[in-house]
Amino acid sequence: QGKKDGRGTFRVFKSAMDVELRARAQLEGALRAAIQSGEIEPFYQPVVSLPGRELIGVEVLARWRHPERGLLAPAQFIPIAEETGLIADLSYRLLRQACLDARDWPAHLQIAVNIAPQQFQDAWLCERILAILTETGLPPHRLEVEITETALVQDLEAARTTLTSLQNLGVRIALDDFGTGYSSLYHLRELKFDKLKIDRRYVDTITMSDERAKLVDAIIKLSASLGLVTTAEGIESDASLDWLAGQGCDFGQGYLFGAPMPKGEMDFLLTRSSEPAEPRKVA
Ligand code: C2E
Ligand code: MG
Ligand code: MG
Ligand code: MG
Repeated sequence: QGKKDGRGTFRVFKSAMDVELRARAQLEGALRAAIQSGEIEPFYQPVVSLPGRELIGVEVLARWRHPERGLLAPAQFIPIAEETGLIADLSYRLLRQACLDARDWPAHLQIAVNIAPQQFQDAWLCERILAILTETGLPPHRLEVEITETALVQDLEAARTTLTSLQNLGVRIALDDFGTGYSSLYHLRELKFDKLKIDRRYVDTITMSDERAKLVDAIIKLSASLGLVTTAEGIESDASLDWLAGQGCDFGQGYLFGAPMPKGEMDFLLTRSSEPAEPRKVA
């Protein structure tokens, strides 16, 4: 396209690309250093049971505490981590920190970590997770691994083996962002998950129309009929909460119960909720 517009334009286009490439290389270097120095920090978002709103666990969500740019969301660095192969190092460090943090929390509280598709191809995934659990002393049954369908498209047999080995350790597997992948029903038929997480893009529409609500209801019923438990992501209103609970959705996550927060805030929330006078409720 640059050529067609003449040499001048092409040169502008090319130097713009150089700038972008350099910015990317810089970001990669910074990210690598940030992982090493512990600037990537686990945030925790409450997961509650429905309809009781009892805190049953947290999802671990990565944040980059950037010295100049402030707190960065995963969208600003996870894609680069995936492209550059830094994601494995990032995730294992995050998992390790989350396991250490979870030791300060009540023993029934579960932690859920996101595993990138690329990481899921790692033949040593199971061994590495087991090593971290052993080192930190977190019982495997307290850990849940969230994978998206992108992790499953490459090699179904390899995925099956990895899922089964993790489940044999006692780790549970959740299918994340359900409804946004290419062949969700196929994967549900071919693989055994423990939990299905309905993507927020479905959840935040249920109060908009009957048709949308019916679709979410069907997902909840499908999940239950396959013996899985269901979590709804992105619950922001009492109306959504009531409706989802009424349809038999087991767990919920969303700003209504709490946004992702640092360890200190989670500690505070847990001390507050364990005071005898108050029921252990989040919101
Ligand atoms: P996810 O696993 O689907 O995580 C849920 C996302 O929804 C989080 O965004 C969370 O902050 C957001 N969320 C939760 N409740 C609400 C709500 O009520 N309303 C709205 N609007 N949003 C809500 P976040 O933290 O920005 O993470 C985005 C994605 O980045 C995650 O989606 C996950 O796919 C990925 N991610 C985060 N941490 C990691 C990580 O350590 N490793 C990998 N591989 N991926 C990660
Ligand atoms: Mg997730
Ligand atoms: Mg999700
Ligand atoms: Mg999602």
